[in-house]
Amino acid sequence: MPIGTLGDIDLRMGGSGAGDLVSARCYAIPLRTRFRGITVREGMVIEGPAGWGEFCPFPEYGDAEAAAWLATAVEQATTSRPAPVRDSVPVNAIVPAVGPAEAHAAVVRSGCCTAKVKVADHPGSLDDDVARVEAVRDALGPGGAVRVDANGAWDVDTAVAAVRALDRAAGGLEYVEQPCRTIDEMAAVRRRVDVRIAADESIRRADDPLRVAVAGAADVAVLKCTPLGGVTRALRVAEAAGLPCVVSSALETSVGLAAELALAGALPELDFACGLDTLALLDGDLVPDAAGLRPVDGRLPIPRTPPVPDPALLDAHAAGPERERWWRDRLVRVAELLT
Ligand SMILES: [Mg+2]
Repeated sequence: MPIGTLGDIDLRMGGSGAGDLVSARCYAIPLRTRFRGITVREGMVIEGPAGWGEFCPFPEYGDAEAAAWLATAVEQATTSRPAPVRDSVPVNAIVPAVGPAEAHAAVVRSGCCTAKVKVADHPGSLDDDVARVEAVRDALGPGGAVRVDANGAWDVDTAVAAVRALDRAAGGLEYVEQPCRTIDEMAAVRRRVDVRIAADESIRRADDPLRVAVAGAADVAVLKCTPLGGVTRALRVAEAAGLPCVVSSALETSVGLAAELALAGALPELDFACGLDTLALLDGDLVPDAAGLRPVDGRLPIPRTPPVPDPALLDAHAAGPERERWWRDRLVRVAELLT
């Protein structure tokens, strides 16, 4: 039975009833390490006339915010991707809030020349952050680039002191991502430090993503097409912001990651490594390993054809009936906002 419609897509739930047209499937994949407070990544993949799209707003997001995520899935499932201007993109290693030895090993293992280090994980974390950043610099060598991400945790004065200390520990930071929560605070920090400021949450969750550039709050824009409403919209935001861009994932499976990669492939300029090596954070994927978007020598190739979920992997990672009902209800509610 269809549960709704979305443009050209008949929304039906697959997996439960034999013979159903499988056009929306719910997944639950454990994370290898706790990341942004979650241990399991959940979402849906939706099949349309042009292929598969992924709908995976985090559970705490309201329906209005989730609507942009659904717009991305619909774009993926119903339109062709823009032509890429490059064959592959450099990616950064991701270093969660772990000890220095673990951080060092993760960077060496990644084969990347750029590492993004999570900092400000808890109040009073600066000593741990400094030790982690020093270990990462040691692993990368002098030619590598170290960036840090505070996810908006600091106030202005704390940010200024921390950025200076971390810049010294890194022997020069490439940039600091989202030091504070608000755009005004970001602009205040930017006036007081020499390190470049990158805006992430400020662009993703703001009503007006362009206010960041207008307010002088950032030197770099972190773009994620999944929460921005699709590749086309993200390309428009990039152009209007007029800032150098970094494409980063929203922790999608290979299906959704392909949209992020399409964006990275289509941006006219790409001066920084992208945060797209995130499949490694998931303990599984919806496409077979060979077709998954895993980097080689620190670069991710732009796939020629969009990834297609494997039926056996969809079954293996199916969410339980209760979560499936929750996601189906969410999909129906959010779809109404789009039509
Ligand atoms: Mg970030």
